[in-house]
Amino acid sequence: MRDVTQDADREAAYECFDCGNVVDGTNPGRCPECGSAMRNRGTPIE
Ligand SMILES: [Zn+2]
Repeated sequence: MRDVTQDADREAAYECFDCGNVVDGTNPGRCPECGSAMRNRGTPIE
């Protein structure tokens, strides 16, 4: 289930697309609260 090829090992904050839950640390992959996709808050999305 790994589809992240960027710097996934860097510690950062990840925010859930769906519920806005924030997880600090390595990429959780899925939101622990609702299971939706997470995005790196340090990576602006165009
Ligand atoms: Zn969520």
